[in-house]
Amino acid sequence: MRIESDQVQGYQDAMSGTQELQYSVTVDDGLIQPAECELSPHQDERPDGCKPELLVIHGISLPPGEFGGPHIEQLFANRLDWDAHPYFSELRGMEVSAHLLIRRDGRLLQFVPFHCRAWHAGASSFRGRKHCNDFSIGIELEGSDETDYADAQYECLAAVIRALWLAYPDLNARSIAGHCDVAPGRKTDPGPAFDWLRLYDGLTA
Ligand SMILES: [Zn+2]
Repeated sequence: MRIESDQVQGYQDAMSGTQELQYSVTVDDGLIQPAECELSPHQDERPDGCKPELLVIHGISLPPGEFGGPHIEQLFANRLDWDAHPYFSELRGMEVSAHLLIRRDGRLLQFVPFHCRAWHAGASSFRGRKHCNDFSIGIELEGSDETDYADAQYECLAAVIRALWLAYPDLNARSIAGHCDVAPGRKTDPGPAFDWLRLYDGLTA
C-alpha cells in the first residue's frame, strides 16, 4: 500500500497556516495518517502481552552524512541495492526497519504497523527491561549525530508523539528514549545534535 507523497504534501500544506500539524493513529490497523506507507518485510509479531510502552528515537543517514536520497526507505523496505555505494556493502543482508521515518523536510513515512514489532533497537534495555523492540515504537529521524535536526522534523515528531500518546495510553513523557540510551556504548544516535528540551517543549506547548 502506498500513498503518493504529493497527496501527503498537499495535506500538510493545507494544514499549515490554518492550524498546527495533526496526525491520527488507528489502533486497529496500527497506522498513522497522513503518512506515506510502504510496509517492510522486516517485522514480526510482538511477543504475547507486549504493547507499545516506549518510544525509541533514532538518527540515520545513508550513506552516512548524506541527506535526501531514497536509501533509508530502500533499506527498511528490503530493496536497497547493496552495490549502489561502497558503504552499502558493509550493510549487505542487514534486516532492519523502524515504524516511522521523518525526513529532513518533515515528511512522514511508515514501514511497520505499531502493533507489530519493528527491528530497530537491537541489543538494548530500558529501565532494566531488555529487548526494547518487543515493547517499543521506533522513530527514525533522517540526520546524523553532529548535524542540527531540521525545524520540520521537531514539528513532525512532536505531532506524531501526541497522536501516539492518544492511541496508546501506556506511552508518556517518561517513556521516550534515544537509541543511545537503550544501547549505550553501542549506539550514539540521535546524537548530541538532537535537542531533547526542544522536543519536550513541543510536546507541552
Ligand atoms: Zn538507531
